[in-house]
Amino acid sequence: MSICVITGTHWGDEGKGKIVDYLGSRADAVVRSQGGNNAGHTVVVEGEKYIFHLIPSGILHSGIQCILGDGMVIDPASLIEEVHMLRERGREDRLKDLHVSGRAHLVMPYHRMLDGLTEKRRGNDALGTTGKGIGPAYEDKVARLGIRVADLLSEKRFAERLRYTLEYKNAILHKIFGEQPLTFEKVYSEYKRLGELIAPFVTDTSRLVHSLLNEGKKLVVEGAQGTMLDLDHGTYPYVTSSHPVAAGSLLGTGLGPVHGTQVIGICKAYTTRVGEGPFPTELSNPIGEFLRERGGEYGATTGRPRRCGWLDGVVLRYAVRVNALSSLVLTKLDVLGGLERVKICFGYRQGDSMLDDCPLDFGTMHTCEPVYQEFAGWEEDVSKVRHYIDLPRQAREYIEYIEDVSRIPVAIISVGQDRPATITRKEIL
Ligand code: GDP
Repeated sequence: MSICVITGTHWGDEGKGKIVDYLGSRADAVVRSQGGNNAGHTVVVEGEKYIFHLIPSGILHSGIQCILGDGMVIDPASLIEEVHMLRERGREDRLKDLHVSGRAHLVMPYHRMLDGLTEKRRGNDALGTTGKGIGPAYEDKVARLGIRVADLLSEKRFAERLRYTLEYKNAILHKIFGEQPLTFEKVYSEYKRLGELIAPFVTDTSRLVHSLLNEGKKLVVEGAQGTMLDLDHGTYPYVTSSHPVAAGSLLGTGLGPVHGTQVIGICKAYTTRVGEGPFPTELSNPIGEFLRERGGEYGATTGRPRRCGWLDGVVLRYAVRVNALSSLVLTKLDVLGGLERVKICFGYRQGDSMLDDCPLDFGTMHTCEPVYQEFAGWEEDVSKVRHYIDLPRQAREYIEYIEDVSRIPVAIISVGQDRPATITRKEIL
């Protein structure tokens, strides 16, 4: 039995898409377990760029089962858009391996509306959500007002659920936000049409995953976002509405803490964050801009510029702990080439105290001052390097310090967007 859970160590955008694609090529199935089309993975295969928001990037490998798990919230229009994109780009044959959980929740039009309206109302305290309705869909799931994918397959059940929920949502839209109510017929007919299009993909994915494991297949569980965006373990309230940590990934797949699970942390060679919230190592200076431009740090879903800074080793150590990481994949090492000095934060100074862990109250994290270990940079372009020993000495020192700070090995190093731009020190799958 072999399960490899992929988790982002910081605030997402660590380059999980490429690594899931890389590891996915050796797996039998790739599962997405939480989140929705607020995530964005960019994968470059033979120079061709694909952006996925819902479908696991493993879909680009023949023979790999791609599963949208129970814990996801799915916007059916966005799913169908990705299905069309694959058809148009000559990958229709891959759709036979796409499976969507009947237990996943649906993102409805009122979720998207409420996402935008609530953000607007928060004004300066806006969370910086992607506006895709993900948070409101999870709210409804917890409030037991959600509509699930399986409900779409039964006209009667869907009509009942929609009628019940819409009355309530329309009251909020109209009375709190002064918006026009949505008409039942319009939403019903749109979703009925989408339901017919997604029906061929819907199945009991938890059962499918268990039977694959019983057959001895290898599974990659693809986390979206990152540890610090976890609803419980992240920088609350500037977090996502699901659980990007490894335990959340298993939950959303329909798996328990199964023997044979390894959790791999994807860590970028520097740190970025989208949206609001604390970010101690942020650089609001030309080095931050250098990282943004060199690293193409603009959101795959929204195009928003990402905030950039030095690698935060305190957050990394925290991610090792809350995810039970066994090794790291370090991405985007190539982006640091050309910097005279590079730094890694190994502690925070907060008032008179030195912290080697995140503060208990994330609300005080903005008062944490990073304490850095400084290194000489390297001039060389490392994007063509394929063996660890061929990296410049300074880059190896940088990596080995990451191992010291995190106390786990860096198994794989990514030095470019394409699949071959990868240095493997230790096989993971
Ligand atoms: P994710 O949300 O964690 O999957 O992150 P993205 O898919 O948005 O990845 C961020 C971007 O980094 C994408 O454009 C990737 O192609 C790119 N990327 C991934 N690994 C590397 C790398 O090692 N070097 C460079 N230069 N780009 C990379």
